[in-house]
Amino acid sequence: MSSMHVKKGDTVKILSGKDKGKTGEILRSIPQRQRVVVEKCNMVKKAMRPTQQNPQGGITTVEAPLHVSNVMLVCPNCKEATRTSKRVNEQGKKVRVCKKCGKDIDK
Ligand SMILES: [Zn+2]
Repeated sequence: MSSMHVKKGDTVKILSGKDKGKTGEILRSIPQRQRVVVEKCNMVKKAMRPTQQNPQGGITTVEAPLHVSNVMLVCPNCKEATRTSKRVNEQGKKVRVCKKCGKDIDK
């Protein structure tokens, strides 16, 4: 199993591409491809097949997956984009630790 430094529900900062500097929440992660889908980032136009709800079909915009190397976790404590280290907490659970403020990121 491959693991990533970010996961669904994290807030991340975009490091490259047209949305560089934006922040958003990870809506979906795709560990097999090392990619994440970030809310309102990397939007692309997509042709929709006609469906019962939308019999005309048409063009919509959706978030395209970004490679995890293009995002950086935003620490929920200090609100800075940061690298993380890992530690095992008092409950024996692996948690990520912010390298900027030193606080646990995972509860
Ligand atoms: Zn922090």
